[in-house]
Amino acid sequence: MDSTQFRKEAHKLADWMADYFEQVEDYPVKPEVQPGDIIQQLPESPPDSGESFDKIFKDFQQVIMPGMTHWESPSFMGYFPANKSYPSVLAEMLTATLGAQCMSWVTSPAATELEERVMEWLRDMIGLPAHFSGVIQDTASTSTLAALLMAREQATDFEVNKAGFSSRRPLAVYCSSETHSSIEKDVKIAGFGHKYLRKIPVNSDFSINIQALEKKIQADLKQGIEPTCVVATLGTTGSTAVDSLPEIADICRRYDIFLHVDAAYAGTALLLPEHRTMIEGIEQVNSFVFNPHKWMFTNFDCSAFFVRDQSLLVRTFEIMPEYLKTAEDKRVRNYRDWGIQLGRRFRALKLWFVIRDFGVKGLQEKIRLHIKLAQDLEQAIRQAPNFELLAPVPFNLLCFRYHPAHLSDEKKLNRLNKTLLEQINKTGELFITHTKLSGRYTLRMVIGNTHVEQRHVEQAWNVISEQAAKLRE
Ligand code: PLP
Repeated sequence: MDSTQFRKEAHKLADWMADYFEQVEDYPVKPEVQPGDIIQQLPESPPDSGESFDKIFKDFQQVIMPGMTHWESPSFMGYFPANKSYPSVLAEMLTATLGAQCMSWVTSPAATELEERVMEWLRDMIGLPAHFSGVIQDTASTSTLAALLMAREQATDFEVNKAGFSSRRPLAVYCSSETHSSIEKDVKIAGFGHKYLRKIPVNSDFSINIQALEKKIQADLKQGIEPTCVVATLGTTGSTAVDSLPEIADICRRYDIFLHVDAAYAGTALLLPEHRTMIEGIEQVNSFVFNPHKWMFTNFDCSAFFVRDQSLLVRTFEIMPEYLKTAEDKRVRNYRDWGIQLGRRFRALKLWFVIRDFGVKGLQEKIRLHIKLAQDLEQAIRQAPNFELLAPVPFNLLCFRYHPAHLSDEKKLNRLNKTLLEQINKTGELFITHTKLSGRYTLRMVIGNTHVEQRHVEQAWNVISEQAAKLRE
């Protein structure tokens, strides 16, 4: 392909993209494909000679598109959203075009300095204190891994970095039983050992039980195990429960434990001053993550990681091989030392585009709308005779189940709701997912897509009610 053809194809693709955004509601949200349906249409070996772009793009439309789940659809209400928006997509086009690798200041000065400034904006927008410094990681899993490694090095005075784990007494990490699975994965990767991850029981609202947390810390101390890090979650994956940060912060202060906050999804709600009560105690927090790529209209991947002590972060990760040394090293940020990977994408650009295009007020309006739509539906579910809510609704995730009055057997209810979920998603008109809360099969519905409106929520509730009624027939 030469530049003339690139220009022509890029114009065509821009039209296709705009059409897609306009028409995405017409696609079934989840495709009706079976495992293997797509791969069997793909040749087993690559072409020897180059193929025409027409042919490649035709295959994209005919083979790939029918197998895509449409996360962009306003009726995609499963998991947590991986949102995007027009300014974010445009920025991604520029990022791909520039193709910059932003590992050091010198490898793209503007990318580094934009990241520094945009992270200061974001910190102020969500009400974090000014002593936090920010860096963009790919995912919350990576941000939390960075936090655990910082906690490990702080607790051991950088001994594990130097000599490995061998001579140390065990280090323990604490989180609730509702904490995201990435924490467990990160604990394994960081070398703490799975058996030193303490999953603390939760209260009836699925937030961590503070008394149980402190008891476990005391028990570990008695056994010579060193309490090293607590991970508090603001907005758990199952039900967006909020751990009590002031109480956890108090414990971490008293026992001198590193405190990491996982606000991967609900951190976006901090754009709204009325939700900032959940970061009371933030002064004690060592690190904090939230993902603009979930609910803040910024393409995946973009995870905002903030730390109180930037020198601890850099000391945990810094390496200085000869081939990376530059004359400016002492005067600049080299973000390669702020995380795990060396090579880094230019992620700040899309965040900058999004914040400027929406403005803080525009972002706040959307987030408030999503929470309001969820609260309205919460009322509808409360009033529906055969449904029940299974968790509080602090933001825009609804956890509920179908519960016909005549049925009380929990196993039967679980089976019924599993079938209901399958039937709902089969319609292609809506996509929701599930979890288990206190052993109950729970339907999870998130109202957080960039373009979701009241009519989509109404339509979704109609689909759910209709499919439930069919199960009764
Ligand atoms: N933490 C919470 C609370 C989450 O809900 C998720 C994902 O949904 C994660 C962490 C992991 O996010 P990521 O995919 O960015 O690693």
